[in-house]
Amino acid sequence: MKALRIATLFFLALGAAAQGPAPVLLRAATVLDGRGRVLHNTSILVENGTIVRLVPASAAVPGARVVDLRGLTVMPGWIDVHEHIAWHFGADGHFAGQGVGRGETPEHAFLAMAANAWATLNAGFTTIQSVGSPADVPLRDAIAAGAIPGPRILTAIRPLAGRGPRTGTPAQIRAYVDQDKAMGADLMKIFASASIRQGGTPTLSQAQLDAACGEAKRDGLRTLVHAYGVAVKMAVNAGCFEVEHGMLMPLSDLALMARHHVFFDPQAGLVFQNYFNHQRQYLGHGGYTASGFAAMRQVWPADDAMFRQAVQTSGLIIVFGTDSVAGAFGHQAEEFIYRVRRGGMTPMQALVSANYSAAESLRMQDEIGSIAPGLDADIIAVAGNPLQDITAVRHVAFVMKGGVIYKNDAAAPAR
Ligand SMILES: [Zn+2]
Repeated sequence: MKALRIATLFFLALGAAAQGPAPVLLRAATVLDGRGRVLHNTSILVENGTIVRLVPASAAVPGARVVDLRGLTVMPGWIDVHEHIAWHFGADGHFAGQGVGRGETPEHAFLAMAANAWATLNAGFTTIQSVGSPADVPLRDAIAAGAIPGPRILTAIRPLAGRGPRTGTPAQIRAYVDQDKAMGADLMKIFASASIRQGGTPTLSQAQLDAACGEAKRDGLRTLVHAYGVAVKMAVNAGCFEVEHGMLMPLSDLALMARHHVFFDPQAGLVFQNYFNHQRQYLGHGGYTASGFAAMRQVWPADDAMFRQAVQTSGLIIVFGTDSVAGAFGHQAEEFIYRVRRGGMTPMQALVSANYSAAESLRMQDEIGSIAPGLDADIIAVAGNPLQDITAVRHVAFVMKGGVIYKNDAAAPAR
């Protein structure tokens, strides 16, 4: 009899081990579900990296480890659909590019990229899309393997840079897209305009853009098109998936994007402010010039007007992309504050742009971006309530990604 009981206990223990670590119950007073709803006094049960169910805050779940987040505002991990995670400053403090920069060792470059990844996760971003660099691939894969901490990374690896006729024939462009797919790209990034520092003029013909977005679609790759002015309409006509930036376009093109279900990723401020904060580190490196900086200072106010009009455009899905480059990692949440203060979004609209809407633009809305049973347990919490004061997004106190807790300041005594 006793032997049977011991055997039973043994098999129970074995069963528990086979199921992985104990479930975690996150007790919360305020939960933003990522889709625009606020849940009160709800606990989130997490098991094996997944949200299993939501229960009343007072409910007990036997065997679960309880993490008390009742002093914080809980929400899905944020998603940034436009980053350049490999960009970094070299040991001399100057912009070193997106690979191994001049005068730096590969060891320095890759540690700088790993530091970008950790700063990003620590700031509440559990998924980012990098648009992109070949250096993203080992970083993406090391994080996915659990070897180093960082956000889940999707990467374009090798953007298609529009260079007018020199970009190639439509056939050559289709081959380039196919090669990027074969290299393991998660999406295709296409530059259809020169940078705003160089006037933002189109750099691809309609036929070239049609080839790029058409081939990517056949390959099952989403297309993110860097487009200013008339290039926005060209991207819509080419059947591209998402438009980045959008400055200098006729504002009527906002409704055009909405009608064609093209996602829109404008930036409200962080990218500009970060460049201005780090101007000395960029100037003279990687093509950054004083006149280029002057052009950015000039376009920012017009960009605000475009952003506000985009928010008012019915049916247009605005997603959260910061265009973070060297200097911005760890500060991505500043973009929420710009979106509210300069861009005219409500705090809830700004937050949903980085949760459900961003997830939808990655076609991952069934995996991330909401707090609901069956989704990945990517959950963060901030001190204060961002619906009342958007600057609360600066105070990320708890970060869980895939059920693993990377940061938990919740237990710290209140100041
Ligand atoms: Zn960019």
